[in-house]
Amino acid sequence: MKDKPKPHNFKGNKNYKSIIIGFIRILKKDNVIVPKYKIENTELEVKNLLNAINEVKKEVKLLQKKINPNKEKDIYAIFDFYKMYLEDDYYINDAIEEIREKKLNAAYIIEERHKKTISFFNTLEDPKMRERKDDIDFLTQKVLNYLLKNKGNSSNILSNQVIFAKKISPLDLILYHAQGVKAIVTEEGTFTSHTSIIANTLDISYIMGIENCLNAVNNNDIAIINGFTGEIIINPEQSSITKYKIKKEEQENLLLELEKEALYKSYTTDNKYIKIMSNIDVIDAPEKINKYNFEGIGLARSEFMFHDKETIPSYEEQLIIYKELLIKNKNIEVTIRTFDFSEDKTPNTLKVFHQHNPSMGLRGIRFSFYQKIFKTQLKALIEASKFGNLKILFPMISSYQEFIDIKKIEAEILKELNIKKNYKLGIMIETISSVYILQDIYKDIDFISLGTNDLMQYFFAVDRSNSIVKYLSSPFAPSFIRFLNEITSLIKKYNIELSICGKIASMPNIIPILIGLNLDILSVSPLSIPIIKRVIKKISYSESVKLVNKLIKNKTYKENENLVANFLKDNKVNLEF
Ligand code: PEP
Ligand code: MG
Repeated sequence: MKDKPKPHNFKGNKNYKSIIIGFIRILKKDNVIVPKYKIENTELEVKNLLNAINEVKKEVKLLQKKINPNKEKDIYAIFDFYKMYLEDDYYINDAIEEIREKKLNAAYIIEERHKKTISFFNTLEDPKMRERKDDIDFLTQKVLNYLLKNKGNSSNILSNQVIFAKKISPLDLILYHAQGVKAIVTEEGTFTSHTSIIANTLDISYIMGIENCLNAVNNNDIAIINGFTGEIIINPEQSSITKYKIKKEEQENLLLELEKEALYKSYTTDNKYIKIMSNIDVIDAPEKINKYNFEGIGLARSEFMFHDKETIPSYEEQLIIYKELLIKNKNIEVTIRTFDFSEDKTPNTLKVFHQHNPSMGLRGIRFSFYQKIFKTQLKALIEASKFGNLKILFPMISSYQEFIDIKKIEAEILKELNIKKNYKLGIMIETISSVYILQDIYKDIDFISLGTNDLMQYFFAVDRSNSIVKYLSSPFAPSFIRFLNEITSLIKKYNIELSICGKIASMPNIIPILIGLNLDILSVSPLSIPIIKRVIKKISYSESVKLVNKLIKNKTYKENENLVANFLKDNKVNLEF
């Protein structure tokens, strides 16, 4: 038993989101959170369950097809077992009966029945049979995932909870968001991890990188999460709760003020125009972003548009989504990036082998070529380009040859569709080598997007989601600012449009550095637009250039952090609550 709760504090990395007060829910490894609630329409719930089981069956069949029954007999047999289990009476019919009788949600019934099955398997003598437990676990998790993705009655079920976990994948986060989660805390993870990016888009306060925090909290402890400062208070005194409720109110009032300002374009105090675009990470991002004035979509991560699919979407499915996005935003440029499937964003059915070093392995454009999904996507994008201002962006370019391959496929598609090019092409600069192929391709591209999340990971050789070594890859590091300075000067020479879409463009305390580096198109996470616009309005371009000249000459990131903090203070930008 852990001790009786005492107030205590942690500090982690912030994502500049709201103050949230809620009850702690500790998430065990790989567990989905299964809510329990009454339902009125039992037949609809039965249908949901049958659909979920069907989807898992489809997935199992697809996975089985990838296995050679002659060479991998044992593995093939496991899939036969999966299919049998999913058709078992106990699994389906008895569960349906229970839903009708108890009028409870399917996910809860399935989870409870699953627990009983697992206890039964634990009592079995035969070790081989006991091993089947893992298979059943796998199947049930999958069915639950499908059930919980179906938002139905479950939205808001977790709205007063703060999730504590070792780590959370971006796809799971989307799921929890559908259930109303407003705050999460993880031991692992960093501000450039995909989970953090999605948390920002979905307005979830996310504090990450707090080692061993799971051992220091209990389920149902009260937590105050200050997304603005990274502070967490566990089991606060009543006086702290009152204090934070007041801070929260102040924060909300300031946000209202900033939202009004966000309707206008952004100029520095010395009148330099900074174009603000938005990153669209999930298609159903909070409605309120439509209120903010952004002058383009600088990055739509296409892999997230299909986050609820377990397989690669077909040409037709893709066309519908791209067309819709372009039509909805017909007055602005829309940059859609081709799939950048990385380890944490790959549908399970495509994860066919283990990669020792996934961020240096098959991801981005490499993955699309390898899995032969690139042409279908590019074709759907080119066809959709008739409906708006499309910019097509390619992720993880690291060699000239990749670019040549893209151009070849593009030419084939234009011929097949018999249409004229009506879109722009650009690449992400997120590998170091991509900087040094610009001289070969600059005449053939229309724009460049700086992906500092990955660029930093490759520059510093620091895994972007590893919180232990993250301290080595600060955006304040003089070496990195010098590198960015070289890139921006080079691109200026080639006279290509340059924007930045990495997470640092959504961090208010980095803005003076970006402005000083002559970046004037920022694509930021949508809910950060008001605060980013406020910072720009308070600082001057010429002073920012002088600031960068000093930052480049310093030696440590700490010196630079202080210098920028003072710069912001002198310019009356207050970022603490
Ligand atoms: C980046 O690497 O900076 C980027 C924007 O891409 P992603 O975060 O999706 O890898
Ligand atoms: Mg990237």
